[in-house]
Amino acid sequence: MKITGLEIMAFALPLRGHYGWRSLQSPIGRYAILRVTTDDGLVGLGEAPVLPDWGGEHGRYYGEDTTMVTHLVRKYFEPILIGSDPRAIKELLPRMDSVVRGFPYTKAMIESALLDLAGRAAGVPVYQLLGGAARMRIPVCHTVGLAPPEDAARLSAEVVEDGIRTLQIKASGDFAADLAVMKAVRHAVGDKIRIYPDVNRGYRTPKDAIAAIEAMHAEAGICMIEQPVEGSEAMAQVTASVRVPVMADEGCWSPQDAIEAVRRKSADILSIYYTKASGLLRSMQIGAIASAAGMPVNVNGSLEAGVGNAANLHLAAALEGNVLPAVIAVTTLQGREQTRVGGVFYTDDVISEPFHYADGCLSVPTGPGLGVDLDPAKIAKYRIA
Ligand SMILES: [Mg+2]
Repeated sequence: MKITGLEIMAFALPLRGHYGWRSLQSPIGRYAILRVTTDDGLVGLGEAPVLPDWGGEHGRYYGEDTTMVTHLVRKYFEPILIGSDPRAIKELLPRMDSVVRGFPYTKAMIESALLDLAGRAAGVPVYQLLGGAARMRIPVCHTVGLAPPEDAARLSAEVVEDGIRTLQIKASGDFAADLAVMKAVRHAVGDKIRIYPDVNRGYRTPKDAIAAIEAMHAEAGICMIEQPVEGSEAMAQVTASVRVPVMADEGCWSPQDAIEAVRRKSADILSIYYTKASGLLRSMQIGAIASAAGMPVNVNGSLEAGVGNAANLHLAAALEGNVLPAVIAVTTLQGREQTRVGGVFYTDDVISEPFHYADGCLSVPTGPGLGVDLDPAKIAKYRIA
């Protein structure tokens, strides 16, 4: 099997409502989707959610936009990929790294398309290529965007009615505002729902973070905290000082970052998704490091669309160890809604079948490869480039 063509499409999906986090400036719902065609007629899909203002700690790593994704594929990666066997992934990834350093989102899009093709060629789902599924139903964590306390509380109650039991709540880094939001959400959802803030590096000092976390734990019962500060030294100081577990997101992109987090004790939990690590195989390496170190992980994301959600579902299925509820959107197709608001950020998608949702969990797709196909009518409707 040889790769004969690469097609990149850019999409803008319709939003359910406003959604934001600290430092987010670009609109959500924009995606690049790659279609890789082969000489034996198989098609592989990959997705890059594009967010140029997203990135790692201290300017390390960054998201991309659709123009950058297209340029990188056309100028640098297409010459490597055309004529190659898409199943030779471990030969192709280092070659892609040698011509362009960084740009993990574009590389993750390509890698998942290669895995999709490898799975389709072998007639097995991608999670089998990753060593098989440890679980087939993935509990969903809904992410609540930045909002005033009453709005965050109302939305959280609706999400819980849809069956979701864990809420990630975006926090601003303003202590009083964050405490007010967490208390309002706790009051709205009762004692049995797990809630935790994602501060996106927002607290200015470790001491500010420690004071805020202790107050949110005492007064709102938060179960953990995501990326309260920036930098592994500050994260280590917070991790050593608070009662709740601390999760690294911006601080953990690569397997090397995961080793550093273990070595420096800069987190208790690692957040993994297929894009940050340049693909599913390196995401599995992070999972192996966390598992060996006795650390839980969660599968998080950038509010992917259907193709990206498929990649993250296969990852959540295949990771070993303690895997916490995943921030994976409940892909919604117009007229085939499975929840009212729980896990829903876009009111439609370009894939042809949604992932089955029940009792707060998404089912991992079982078809060959990623197990998703594109809907030509939806491509025509939402394509922007
Ligand atoms: Mg995060």
